[in-house]
This record gives sequence, structure tokens and C-alpha cells, in this order.
Amino acid sequence: MKELLKNILKGIGVYHPLQSFYRGSIGAAINTYYRFSYAKYKGRGYECNFCHARYGRFVPHYPEKAIENAINKNDVIAGFGKNVFCPSCMSKNRERLVLAVLQNKLSVDEKRILHFSPEKHLYQYISTRASVATVDIMPGFYQSIDKNILQEDATNLGFASESFDMIIANHIMEHIPEDTKAMCEMQRVLKTGGVAILQVPYSEKLNKTIEEPFINNPDRQEELYGQRDHVRIYALKDYVARLEGSGFTVNVLRSDTLKEFLKHAIQERECVVLCYKK
Ligand SMILES: [Zn+2]
Repeated sequence: MKELLKNILKGIGVYHPLQSFYRGSIGAAINTYYRFSYAKYKGRGYECNFCHARYGRFVPHYPEKAIENAINKNDVIAGFGKNVFCPSCMSKNRERLVLAVLQNKLSVDEKRILHFSPEKHLYQYISTRASVATVDIMPGFYQSIDKNILQEDATNLGFASESFDMIIANHIMEHIPEDTKAMCEMQRVLKTGGVAILQVPYSEKLNKTIEEPFINNPDRQEELYGQRDHVRIYALKDYVARLEGSGFTVNVLRSDTLKEFLKHAIQERECVVLCYKK
């Protein structure tokens, strides 16, 4: 019954916009709850670089039982931990890390940016400083963030070569069966001299990426990769090799060079993958 309703809503094109609305309203309610319940932690410790609220602790987020094995056994750096959501604005640790890099190591001012599956806080930051095109394969899901979002398939982008100064794809590639095609497309539409920030969940414990690119079994995907719509867990070395094979010059900013950002409650040990077109 649930599937039937879902298919009818998809058929008339309102499923993803409804989901987006639902997500937005639930998100606002959760946000209010955390703001109240974390009021007692207000003070020193961490400062959100989006909303500048200061708290002694942020909202934790740990893997649920069903995915614990995939995440913990493979030691995947995937956005879980003790300080994940800002209790004031609900930004995630992975957004705050990208923001810290944009503010301190790169600049978005006056740039032309391609932002995949836009995250609310990051989009709000870059769109007031740069010219941004947002895209997703299912754009309805993001319409509450940017109503002008375009439908684009990352493996076959409808943009001319050399169109963007910067690309931000924060946890996208692990969803794409033909990931190297997407990497080549991103490299193509990036201007020479441009940079792409291509963050993914990854493991340094693994020597080889775990994957079944065309898998279509959400229960199995959850068990194997820790999320129902992921198609792999990258071994970091392998991920970098695929990016280099797609024409990028890759600079991995290791977590020991990002310590200054720990004050923004970023994920400890997460590195930043900067991909240049030279
Ligand atoms: Zn915040």
C-alpha cells in the first residue's frame, strides 16, 4: 500500500517536493526541541561556524544497530560521532568542515559554483557570495533549499566544458553506480585552475573499495555499506586513485592539518579531498 501510494505520487511528480516539505517541517520541529534541550550546554567549547552559537557539546549521532557493523567494522569516517548537529541551526559536522575550508583555505567570492544535492547551510553561505547552480538527479527533494535547482545526471552533465570555478559535491559519489563517469564529467565542466571538493564516507582500514555498483537491494545495501542508497564504501587510497584516473590532481588535507577547525565540532579524523584541474 505504502509503495503504491509512493508510486502514484511519483507518477504525478509530487513525491519528492512533498518529501522535501515534510523533511523541512520535521527538521524545524527537531531543531526547536534541540534548542531547548541543549540550552543547558550553552557556553564555551565549540562554536558553530554557520550560526556562531557556542555550546559545550553538540548533538551526537551514532549509527543505528542495523548499520553498526558496516560502519564500525570497516572504521568508516561517515559523519557519526559525539558532536554532529549544531543544537542551534542543525548544521552537520560535514557541512561545517567544508565551510571552514571555504573560509580559510579557498574562497567562494565572485566564483561560479556547481553545488550537487545542496545542503541548506552551505548553499545559503555560498549563494550570497557566489553565482551558484544547484543540481540533483531528483531535484524535487531539494526544492525547499533552492527552488531553481536543475535536474542533472552527474554522469552526463548538461553544462559546457570549463563552466565552473568550483564544484561542491558533499557525500554524493558513494550513491553513483558509475562513479568514474561522474568524476570525468565533473573534471570536464570544471575550469582549468578550478577546484572540486568531493567528500565521501571512506575507510583507511580498507585496502580495497567494497562495492556492487548496480546493486538494487536497500536492505543489503544498508547491511553492506551502512546506508540504504549507497553503492559502496570507498577505501581512501582507491578513491584518490579513481579521481586521479579521471584527470584530477588530488590534494588530501589530512586531519592533522585541520586541527584548527576542531573548535567548530567537525568530525575528528575526517580529511578533505580537494581535486584540482591543472
Ligand atoms: Zn549552528
